[in-house]
Amino acid sequence: MADVHMGEPEVFAFQAEINQLLSLIINTFYSNKEIFLRELISNASDALDKIRYESLTDRSKLESQPELFIRIVPDKVHKTLSVTDSGVGMTKADLVNNLGTIARSGTKEFMEALQAGADVSMIGQFGVGFYSAYLVAEKVIVTTKHNDDDQYVWESQAGGSFVVGKDVDGEPLGRGTKVTLFLKEDQQEFLEERRLKDLVRKHSEFISYPIYLLVEKTAEKEISDDEEGEDKKEEEGEVEEVDEEKEKKPKRKKVKEVTHEWELINKQKPIWLRKPEEVSKEEYNSFYKSLTNDWEDPLAYKHFSVEGQLEFKAILFVPRRAPFDLFDTRKKPNNIKLYVRRVFIMDNCEELIPEWLSFVKGVVDSDDLPLNISREMLQQNKILKVIRKNLVKKCIELFFEIAENKEDYNKFYEAFSKNIKLGIHEDSQNRPKLADLLRYYSTKSGDEMTSLRDYVTRIKEGQNEIYYITGESKKAVENSPFLEKLKRKGYEVLFMVDAIDEFSVSQLNEYDGKKLVSATKEGLKLDDPREDKRKEEKKADFEPLCKTIKEILGDKVEKVVVSDRLMDSPCCLVTGEYGWTANMERIMKAQALRDSSMSAYMASKKTMEINPENGILRELKKRVEEDKNDKTVKDLVMLLYETALLNSGFSLEDPNTFAGRIHRMLKLGLCIDEEEMGGEDADMPATEEEKVDEESKMEEVD
Ligand code: ADP
Repeated sequence: MADVHMGEPEVFAFQAEINQLLSLIINTFYSNKEIFLRELISNASDALDKIRYESLTDRSKLESQPELFIRIVPDKVHKTLSVTDSGVGMTKADLVNNLGTIARSGTKEFMEALQAGADVSMIGQFGVGFYSAYLVAEKVIVTTKHNDDDQYVWESQAGGSFVVGKDVDGEPLGRGTKVTLFLKEDQQEFLEERRLKDLVRKHSEFISYPIYLLVEKTAEKEISDDEEGEDKKEEEGEVEEVDEEKEKKPKRKKVKEVTHEWELINKQKPIWLRKPEEVSKEEYNSFYKSLTNDWEDPLAYKHFSVEGQLEFKAILFVPRRAPFDLFDTRKKPNNIKLYVRRVFIMDNCEELIPEWLSFVKGVVDSDDLPLNISREMLQQNKILKVIRKNLVKKCIELFFEIAENKEDYNKFYEAFSKNIKLGIHEDSQNRPKLADLLRYYSTKSGDEMTSLRDYVTRIKEGQNEIYYITGESKKAVENSPFLEKLKRKGYEVLFMVDAIDEFSVSQLNEYDGKKLVSATKEGLKLDDPREDKRKEEKKADFEPLCKTIKEILGDKVEKVVVSDRLMDSPCCLVTGEYGWTANMERIMKAQALRDSSMSAYMASKKTMEINPENGILRELKKRVEEDKNDKTVKDLVMLLYETALLNSGFSLEDPNTFAGRIHRMLKLGLCIDEEEMGGEDADMPATEEEKVDEESKMEEVD
């Protein structure tokens, strides 16, 4: 493997991020360099998948090279190691784009992960595996032939640039790609047969194309002197003198003859075809790793076959962590590999598994689908629909198996609870089952989350509903005024503090025959009927105050009523049973691209609930009765409304006016004369009268 000759070589600069990545790979010390081979074999296998898939609809695509294989050649003389595949190959444009000028989405993430101490072996997950070649090579040459283009060569010693040109006198590949690594002086171990065999068995044994290694075979051969002359030209190796005592007449010699042959290294049949009881956990784990490029073992797996009017075999895996791009909508799903009678069809079949299960990895091998199935056919395929239904069922079974071990389930829930909640939102059929997988913190859960089942077992006598509160964080909701009465009554309230909870709970509605009721919405009835009469009286008593407050607040609130849920706080703002909660409003506001007409329609219609037992309200009532036009009343009502916005989870419409009001209260509290201050709050002048009033108010607030 001497230097290549290129026609019209062109020099390209590596894209900046890729260049950084290369320096990082070359200059940082990693002991685990061997993973480069797995990455190159994995790329070869992907390229073979592509051409095989194309050939299903157009057989002629294979004509350029009918055999599908991966070949590894260690060349001790030139100190090179090459990996050749007869895959789809790359056109000149592919070469330039894929290997250097366009940074993959994971490039930056991978560098960040590396700098944060991640292992290089994670490289494959980030879609930049090719560059791991520079862990062991000082120069890399890629020769490639695509059906639609001539044979091209790519060459680079890193260092900022690469060269691409036509391959003028190289050996024709027919079709496919050959990656040749010029190994660094201290990486010559990767020319050793033993080492290479072990590596392929360790990292790539589940590749579904034959991997051949060019091995040296040495045989001893006896030749006579006469033959020697001719043979000598072909043989390599030493010539040994044989004891000549016995063999007097024709002189015979023993020679070592060295030949080269291809040895198949991955001989196992596909793991999913074997019986589950005959496959060890280690084998599943290493299959998972080769399937996903994950560097950790899976959290759980399920290997099963479905028989009957439809037959397929499958293995499903749940990873230990969520990938860095779990909900990245730009990413194509490539979680489940679809095979038809052992032949790989595709790994991004959207019809195979719903989006909410996109984190589950695995393989499905169907006996019933046609081999030449196209993407369009898959969309309406009945068999595929049945397979999908079965996969969902098995996934849910698998999650329940994980739930049997608390520690595992915590890990699972931390990584994938959003997916389960998305499932609740989207899969009406499995919703009741999925509800059992939910976990929440609650007013009674302590440090561990609780399931709805456990909630129900703790339910108080006379409690017919399941209460929950939504909000931004556990901290933001646990002391919410909405919970006062509920807590006093000993009713447990679930904290739903994930944005997606708003969506899933709106679909869930009930669990175990009990309605899920929001603590922040209208319609929460907590008082027992015996208290009704007393309440009615209170209501009538506070009716005029409610009216006055509504007049002051105007359109800010829908109505003002006497509350059923408050114990200590003066008031709160609740939302309509079918409208958005404060939390939902926050979430929707954060989504820049929302439909504004929708938000006008759904935006929370607020009802102000006042607490007749609260001193502030009682005093306010007194004042309104004495003088309906008391000037402080208006200011106080505004302040009450604005503080209620805050502790009910809304945001302030006009924080400056609110701040102005608070500052004035502070001054009153500190007995600072407005005049002395030079009237800096000119926009909110206060009369002497008002000040006295406010002072008495302040005492009460305290
Ligand atoms: P990934 O394989 O995860 O996409 P890589 O950095 O390993 O990322 O490879 C980048 C791209 O280069 C691949 O997506 C593929 O398009 C192309 N490529 C790499 N190796 C080969 C190969 N052996 N045959 C064809 N294309 C390849």
